[in-house]
Amino acid sequence: MTDRLIRYFSEGLAGDPELAAAVAGEARRQDEGIELIASENLVSRRVLEAQGSVLTNKTVEGLPYKRYYGGAQFADAVEALAVDRAKRLFGAAFANVQPHSGSNANAGVFLGLLKLGDTILSMDTAAGGHISHGHPATLTGRDYDMMRYGVSRETERIEPEEVRALALRHRPKLIVAGGSAYSRAIDFAALGAVAKEVGALFLVDMAHFAGLVATGLHPHPFPHADVVTTTTYKSLRGARGGLVLWNDPALSDRINYGIFPGVQGSVMMHIVAGKAASLGEALEPDFRAYNEAVLANARVLAETLAEAGLRLVSGGTDTGLMLVDLSPLGITGDVAAKALETAHLAVNKNQIPFDTRPPEAPSGLRLSSNAGTARGFGPAEFATIAGWIARILRAPDDAAVVDAVGREVKALCAAFPIYRS
Ligand SMILES: *Cc1c(COP(=O)(O)O)cnc(C)c1O
Repeated sequence: MTDRLIRYFSEGLAGDPELAAAVAGEARRQDEGIELIASENLVSRRVLEAQGSVLTNKTVEGLPYKRYYGGAQFADAVEALAVDRAKRLFGAAFANVQPHSGSNANAGVFLGLLKLGDTILSMDTAAGGHISHGHPATLTGRDYDMMRYGVSRETERIEPEEVRALALRHRPKLIVAGGSAYSRAIDFAALGAVAKEVGALFLVDMAHFAGLVATGLHPHPFPHADVVTTTTYKSLRGARGGLVLWNDPALSDRINYGIFPGVQGSVMMHIVAGKAASLGEALEPDFRAYNEAVLANARVLAETLAEAGLRLVSGGTDTGLMLVDLSPLGITGDVAAKALETAHLAVNKNQIPFDTRPPEAPSGLRLSSNAGTARGFGPAEFATIAGWIARILRAPDDAAVVDAVGREVKALCAAFPIYRS
């Protein structure tokens, strides 16, 4: 073997110092800071290894054991494991683990189950819905007739009666529930009944609470939902991508063809390996303990922030996710997020329902306990974190305060290291 080939197959990232430095920088950032962004989590070394495996070299199309290309026996085994684990974890008869992302999972389901121009009733992005549920800027927003429901001004929660009134008026073919900035349990039974009444299919996108559903700590979308989608890398603490679950065999071809060839080409088999690894972890008893801690920690974070004078949208949270209204402190989400980031606390600015401020400088912040819990923080650490957040939000322009908190954050992170090699 030539030196060149030995290097090619063995040297690794070290051979590209510029890229290696950026990756090492990201590893340090994750290690030294506290991740509170709800769409993130920390995967295990097992998942990292699966995602970085030789499965990336294998091209397959179609479903396990029905491929168009040869040499697929191990790829088949990997995908069959992921499908089987997804079905067991969520008690579903069928699963498709191929969606490259949560958005693709939704787009594939829409394509498979609907006709161009059909009406979809989904949650308004401004009220906490996800952009992939038909935002006008997306392909789905262009291809279907989108009707939106929001939350009640009073309770800041979804009111099934409002959804029912809209469904009776617009006769959608599909009703979608699940959001990216909605912290409350959704009444799946009530929305499922509305869907049945108007002859619509009911899709639940559980991206932000799938881990809780898997462990019985949150109401299950089945049997009320016809189809369930989720990302696999948020509350599921797994590989980056999406998946689809359903129970009616009559939907199988439509959903599978909606994903491939509908919205995707060949399978990202290394990612499917990562999904198999993380779904396997999610079936272990430890995942239930993790999710119990996610909830307990979220409650401490929410309560401590409320005691410090912040307002929780809807008054609290039923998941790991919460939306904080900063207006009682007279600051905006952009200023808050920037100051917190300087102190190694990663959050994202977010509009709150009926926000009078623009998305670039909104009234709120979105937080989650998912990633902090994954690195071992408990209620005591989350109370401390809430205290740090409050200190910074009261003085976002005070460099001394931001610096002091930043040092304390780094000290706490040093006591909870990740990815020891
Ligand atoms: C994050 C999220 C998605 C989209 O995930 P991507 O992987 O970014 O495409 C879809 N639906 C909901 C509810 C989400 O929170």
